[in-house]
Amino acid sequence: MAITKVWIEDGCIVCNACETTCPEVFNVTEDTCHIRAEVREDGAKDTNLAAKGPLKAIAAKDLEIQIEEAAQGCPVEVIKFEKT
Ligand code: SF4
Repeated sequence: MAITKVWIEDGCIVCNACETTCPEVFNVTEDTCHIRAEVREDGAKDTNLAAKGPLKAIAAKDLEIQIEEAAQGCPVEVIKFEKT
């Protein structure tokens, strides 16, 4: 099982915790958190809520632990991920 997709649901309170834990994946903006283009197959930079596009394989492999830590540390539990 590996994390293949990560996205941000509505309700981010821009606390910066996820970017501190895993800056390679999370980029906190003025009003939400984005999944960085560099780690996405589709190269988009947004919450990935609508598309739920996959992570690049290398990112999914190397950053899995940090992504899970970030999700657990989110105070409003809006970081969601999918494992396949
Ligand atoms: S940890 Fe959660 S609430 Fe905080 S910036 Fe990240 S997604 Fe938003």
